[in-house]
Amino acid sequence: MDYHERWNSVGRFPAVEPKPMRRPLNLLFSILFVAATLLPTAIQAQNAAPKAAPGLAPYKNAQLSADRRVADLLKHMTLEEKASMVAGAGWMESMPIPRLGIPAIKMADGPLGVRSWAGSSAVTGLPGSPQKVLSTSFPAGVSMAATWDAELVRREGQAIGQEVKALGRDMILGPTVNINRQPLWGRNFEGYGEDPYLAARLGVAYIKGVQGEGVIASVKHFDANNEEYERHRIDEQIDARTLHEIYLPAFKAAVQEGGAWTVMSAYNLVNGVHCAENAPLLTDVLKHEFGFKGFVISDWGSTYSTAGTVNAGMDLEMPGGQPMKNWFVMPETQRVGNGAGWLTVDKVLAEIKAGHITEATLDDNVGRILRVIFLSGLYDHPHEGGGEVNTPAQVAVARQAATESIVLLKNSGGLLPLDAKKIHSIAVIGPNAAVARTGGGGSSLVEPKYAVAPLDGIRFRAGSGIAVKYALGVGMEGEIPAQDTSAARASLLKEAMDAAAHSDVAVVVVGRYEKIEREDFDVKTMDLPEGQDELIQAVEAVNPHTIVVLNTGDPVTMTKWIGKTPALVDMWYGGQEAGHALAAILFGDANPSGKLPVSLPKEYEDTPTHDNYPGVNLKVNYAEGIYVGYRYYDTKNVEPLFPFGFGLSYTSFEYSGLTVTPYVASGKAGLVGNVVSLTVRNTGKRAGAEVVELYIHDGHAKIDRPAHELKGFKRVELKPGEEQTVAFTLDRADLSYWSPETMAWVADPGTFEVQVGASSRDIRLKAVLALAR
Ligand code: BGC
Repeated sequence: MDYHERWNSVGRFPAVEPKPMRRPLNLLFSILFVAATLLPTAIQAQNAAPKAAPGLAPYKNAQLSADRRVADLLKHMTLEEKASMVAGAGWMESMPIPRLGIPAIKMADGPLGVRSWAGSSAVTGLPGSPQKVLSTSFPAGVSMAATWDAELVRREGQAIGQEVKALGRDMILGPTVNINRQPLWGRNFEGYGEDPYLAARLGVAYIKGVQGEGVIASVKHFDANNEEYERHRIDEQIDARTLHEIYLPAFKAAVQEGGAWTVMSAYNLVNGVHCAENAPLLTDVLKHEFGFKGFVISDWGSTYSTAGTVNAGMDLEMPGGQPMKNWFVMPETQRVGNGAGWLTVDKVLAEIKAGHITEATLDDNVGRILRVIFLSGLYDHPHEGGGEVNTPAQVAVARQAATESIVLLKNSGGLLPLDAKKIHSIAVIGPNAAVARTGGGGSSLVEPKYAVAPLDGIRFRAGSGIAVKYALGVGMEGEIPAQDTSAARASLLKEAMDAAAHSDVAVVVVGRYEKIEREDFDVKTMDLPEGQDELIQAVEAVNPHTIVVLNTGDPVTMTKWIGKTPALVDMWYGGQEAGHALAAILFGDANPSGKLPVSLPKEYEDTPTHDNYPGVNLKVNYAEGIYVGYRYYDTKNVEPLFPFGFGLSYTSFEYSGLTVTPYVASGKAGLVGNVVSLTVRNTGKRAGAEVVELYIHDGHAKIDRPAHELKGFKRVELKPGEEQTVAFTLDRADLSYWSPETMAWVADPGTFEVQVGASSRDIRLKAVLALAR
């Protein structure tokens, strides 16, 4: 089994109902959870450390600043020791120096939960490594983005940080903040959607949650990992403005606002240079422009030179040691174009000797790794492990996230929510109905203790009063060959139609799975897997009360059936609790409040990138520039099927009273910003949350700008009849574009339009904002 097969061999989980925990235990966990969150973190403990013993070396003194300790520790290290630290010691751990008390940083894959293994992190995840650790599977990144709930993402990060520590690891390889540039990227499910502002807010929240636990986050993949096609060799041609406006903002925010301790470089090349040796990106942008003080870690097997990589600002090559050597010689590793083993101690020392790397540069690399070891508290308080994972509190976060992430896309005639008192039978149909497909494939796929499939969730909620029938309808493309024969297909379809025809309601759960949407491969087509369109059409023909549920991370083509479909729900990949979350939405126990973090186009040909993907001769031109997602659809007047930011509700909201008030800050000359404020009122009969979106339109800039850009959002919970004032601040940076002429952010004086709405195409209120010189 190769590296990639290994990832994809764990995609499906038994769909079982979790046994409810006995109450006292539940209570105990709650108490422990509260106690744990109240306990000072490792970092705080560091501040409160007792007075250092006289004569203690400064690097051992927890009362001194990290920078002071780093400077001292570097003086105690030999050149060989320093050179040994820029490559990993194993598959998932950095090099320790026990003589000086420097621990290995033990890593776990993420970001959708902790993907880890028992035993040594040197071999974690390799074929034959010890038994997997089962941990909480949270919704995919795109699902978390559909919640538009940064506080919830922070709590997800916190829960993940707790699990990392409980498993004796120190670092999680996430969040993924790459932009969903095009609908076929195999890892769209991992990212936070198509908008840099949304991705930035959520990336920051995740990092704060993780690092607040004293666990190291690694924001990835820097930069522009937007396709899996030839991911080790593809060279992306991206102009500076597009990089700054679309592909860098989430990383900038992760560093400057989230305080990310590490950044993972990407596999691909940007403008002719592999990301791990891309000095303009790593040194000029990340370290100088953004002021990043942590370390850059390579993606696994993405280095191609020794001096070039070190001098470009890449600090830690992964993986390392014998596991790396064993993996690197595998034909598959060679075939796909991985590069590894360039920063081994012998090679680094040779380059220093030859004068190609200075000791000062090496000190900077190593100093950055040490700084993170001190800052995270790892040096003084190593994580012992042996803790609980999948606690009730962690599972509760996963459930809330799965519920908030569901987007109601269509609801003709008020088919939803289902009235449990009126319906007697439901047919639950489809290749994604009885199997819990919790996430896409690859290094992010977490193996949970249990996972609730849509069918299980619906059965559990329906109880004994409603008959729930199940029919597969069509096999999942490529999964079980016996289901793919024409005879098998005909009989499965007939069974599904019979079940649908004899039920009050049909729920058809379609979508993809971890072998189609996965790391390392792009999706071949925007169409649903084979036979699924036909299944929907056949069920709709016999039951007018059909609800289609999408279980994917990417946009899919819906033209064949959407006109006739009365109700459509996007459940994305919702992690281990998705089945319960879906049932809660279908039965109205929860009000749908998710909104699309990506535009859903009608056809692949409508997408801004279809002429510029996957590239020619291993070069892909980002010719659409800044016109990604709604920036394209709304500017070029291409109507998507469902626009960015869209999502229906079981209640209704009214927006009123938009005002824009300039404010000045004390001590600063002139205008520094504006407060945008409005009132949102729940005018329906149910309690629910609304995501209010704020866009800026600049019609006077010296340069072409999109029709509008997202610059704020807030999720407000309102009871029926309740209203709330929602306020945002906008400053000069929010009005700016990146000028290729001045190579800087610029806001041209004049009037801007402030737009507030419920989606990028449902602007409810507008106001004018004036920017003086
Ligand atoms: C992925 C990373 C991941 C790493 C370690 C790489 O192939 O691109 O996201 O963290 O493997 O498993």
